[in-house]
Amino acid sequence: MASEQRFDQRLAWRSENLRFNAFGAALKRKFGGRIQRVSIDAGFTCPNVDGAVARGGCNFCDNRSFSPSRRVRLKQVNEQLTRGIASVTERYSKVAGFIAYFQPATNTYAPVDQLEELFELALSLDDRVVGLAVGTRPDCVPDSVLDLLEHFAKTANVSLEFGMQTIHQAGLDWMNRAHDHASMVNAIDRSRGRGFECCGHVILGIPGETHTMMMQTAQEVGRLGLDAIKLHNLYAVEGTPLGDQVIAGEIEWMGKDEYIHTVVDFLERIPPETIVERISGEAPPSYLIEPRWCLEKSSIRLGIEQEFAARGTRQGDRFVPPEVAPADRPRPSDTTPESIRHQIDQRRRLPVLKMEG
Ligand code: SF4
Repeated sequence: MASEQRFDQRLAWRSENLRFNAFGAALKRKFGGRIQRVSIDAGFTCPNVDGAVARGGCNFCDNRSFSPSRRVRLKQVNEQLTRGIASVTERYSKVAGFIAYFQPATNTYAPVDQLEELFELALSLDDRVVGLAVGTRPDCVPDSVLDLLEHFAKTANVSLEFGMQTIHQAGLDWMNRAHDHASMVNAIDRSRGRGFECCGHVILGIPGETHTMMMQTAQEVGRLGLDAIKLHNLYAVEGTPLGDQVIAGEIEWMGKDEYIHTVVDFLERIPPETIVERISGEAPPSYLIEPRWCLEKSSIRLGIEQEFAARGTRQGDRFVPPEVAPADRPRPSDTTPESIRHQIDQRRRLPVLKMEG
């Protein structure tokens, strides 16, 4: 009965004249009012930067600030959240609650006792903090981390966000992700059914990826049973290897109209219950190099809604259920690389998050 109720709730958008299962509306339905995310930089680094799996990081990621010598103290985390809540409250008169969003870098890349201290702090700071969102890589969630998130999910809304980006190895290699899609499948199959939501980030417009390949990634969203997705167009910011390639004229971009059509094609192929948390890139305007159209967020959203209306379709209309339902997929053994496991489970203190004395 409980799962039927959850299913119905996740399809409620269809009776609200919406074309897709938009995040803001889903949160409002769940919490009875506006919920805002407050981004927190807790000073993590990334195994794709510090050498645990590779160095240099993803080609689109501005990871210059992920220095292992940087110290972010719990007090600073506390201050970021307090400041963020104050600034949102000033901007919007009616906010029902906040989600502490651990956003930059790999936010599960620290010993579990440090993660516990950090997440506990965020959840207990203010009664209006209703949950956590934790951004990470698919190869950086050993079972010990998932057990911890399962614990917090008993009393709070917890979302684990994975950088999936694409299912195709050529694209993952081009981005220098330093993990394969099998890591994503392993992570999701171990995360499912633990009470927290699993969200996958996907990039559309990776050079060399055809429309068919992007639609294969869309199908995988349903096969894996992701609870939510964030769609981004590929974009380049200053200070990244991708930015250098753009300046050298080596990258061909998807145009805005093509992006809008591709997003609609993508959303038609994912399950109707998947929450769509984002439909375009969130580029910082002052660092963005290309494509400049991704700053036109309202017009992109309008374009997507108009395209759905013109087709007379909505999210999920072309979804083909997988042969094995996600809930019936067996939970595999943990394939977290030893180099990452060592940092998380065995090393006692990482230099990335210094506790208050
Ligand atoms: S995995 Fe994430 S944090 Fe690490 S380099 Fe790539 S985008 Fe940046």
